[in-house]
Amino acid sequence: MAQPAAAVRITISWEVTVLSVSAGELEASPCQKCGEPLNFHQPDEDDPSHLLGTCGQCGTWHMIEVTPRGTKSLLYTLPDAELLRAKHQEIQKKARGGRPAPRDPQGNGSRGAGEQVA
Ligand SMILES: [Zn+2]
Repeated sequence: MAQPAAAVRITISWEVTVLSVSAGELEASPCQKCGEPLNFHQPDEDDPSHLLGTCGQCGTWHMIEVTPRGTKSLLYTLPDAELLRAKHQEIQKKARGGRPAPRDPQGNGSRGAGEQVA
């Protein structure tokens, strides 16, 4: 079996907006970046509580999660790819400069004596 690609952990912040839902209909929601109305998509046809809102104007993606009772929904602005790429590169750079092993059995965050400076 193929090994999955190594995952790295990056820290990002999400902007969350609460939307109200009336009569089971999600209210029209503007793009959190440019204010254009979003296009809603339902990627999983069996799961109408998880939607994707895309902006035709600026291309920002939003994730929408409808609460189980269907009375409101949360809209998360997905971080843009540029930001993710930059963060990922930053982390890979650090990883190359530091310990070669991804896991440290010695435990969390302790600064090893053999730490290198890139
Ligand atoms: Zn937009």
